[in-house]
Amino acid sequence: MSTTGIFSAFTAFNIIFVLFFGVSIAFFVFVILLIFNPKVRSKFMGVQLKATKQMLDDNKETIKDIKNVQADIAIESTDKILEKHEDTIKKNVTKVADMSAESIETTARAIKKGISKTKQCPECLKFNDENAKFCQECGKKFK
Ligand SMILES: [Zn+2]
Repeated sequence: MSTTGIFSAFTAFNIIFVLFFGVSIAFFVFVILLIFNPKVRSKFMGVQLKATKQMLDDNKETIKDIKNVQADIAIESTDKILEKHEDTIKKNVTKVADMSAESIETTARAIKKGISKTKQCPECLKFNDENAKFCQECGKKFK
């Protein structure tokens, strides 16, 4: 190996070393500044914020599209479910309404019975309607 070859290899190593060292120092200074200088920090954060905002702005249409698709999916699936189970839903709603009506009727009947005057049969002790002429149970004629 010639002297020039050794020298150039050494120089190349030096340059790389200096560059690496320089970059390290620059990075170190940047980190220190970032930690201790609020102005630099806020500027750096501002840049990041701006980048994020830019990204969101760029994807505004995409986000809107996704939202629309999601809304469509929700509406369509609800429609499909309602359509698919229409009979069941209708049937059950009717059933519930019938049950309510029936329970109201039963309650009304019970109240009516409770407040209406009754006549007890002397033979079988069955309670009959106040105006009954005969006992509903044993057929005894009321006086
Ligand atoms: Zn009777």
